[in-house]
Amino acid sequence: MKLVILGPPGAGKGTQATKLSRELSLPRVSTGDMLRHEVAAGTDLGKRAEEYMKVGVLVPDELIVEMIGERLSREDVRRGFILDGFPRNLEQAEALRRMSDIDAVIHLDVSEEEVVERFSGRRECSKCQAAYHVRNSPPQVKGRCDRCGGNIRQRVDDREDVVRQRFRTYREKTEPLVEHYRGSKHLVEIDGSGSIEEVRQAIRAALTSKELL
Ligand code: AMP
Repeated sequence: MKLVILGPPGAGKGTQATKLSRELSLPRVSTGDMLRHEVAAGTDLGKRAEEYMKVGVLVPDELIVEMIGERLSREDVRRGFILDGFPRNLEQAEALRRMSDIDAVIHLDVSEEEVVERFSGRRECSKCQAAYHVRNSPPQVKGRCDRCGGNIRQRVDDREDVVRQRFRTYREKTEPLVEHYRGSKHLVEIDGSGSIEEVRQAIRAALTSKELL
């Protein structure tokens, strides 16, 4: 099964993609995570990508398409994959069409105000990237990761000004993909404003009704 999860930053794409990945035993492929790895490793790609990521705009297509092309040529994605954060514009959707067929595109919809609210409390471990939230899932010891003891911090691109810019980027570049995929009958529309479990069940129900589960 080849799935794409589409939605604004903070819609819960990563959370739901991770759950689906476990349930279906398929790799989750997140371009955001791959880029953050490159940044942390200080590679040439990471250095170039960081300039764009810091301000909440898209990294140029040629860098992304090459990176994802390499990823989707590996053995572990032959049975399928869950794409999280790619494609992000019509050019990337066209590049994906040339690389692979897709069974469903899940659109997780949430409002800008809800996104800003969710991000303001979001934190991550600087070492192992474990996710926390100041209200919903704080670490046991303030500022320390439960898993590895690393420092907990706010991602630079989770600051409110950057989140609003990321949302604008989404509206302008990525949202047109919803209409694009609606034409192909692959589109699954999900209200992303519910709880993690409600959204998970809505996704399962939609995939079942498309006879994909
Ligand atoms: P994410 O964690 O998916 O929200 O991605 C974080 C940042 O990485 C985005 O704000 C972009 O700057 C960059 N990024 C991730 N995926 C893509 C993509 N498919 N195309 C361009 N930029 C991307």
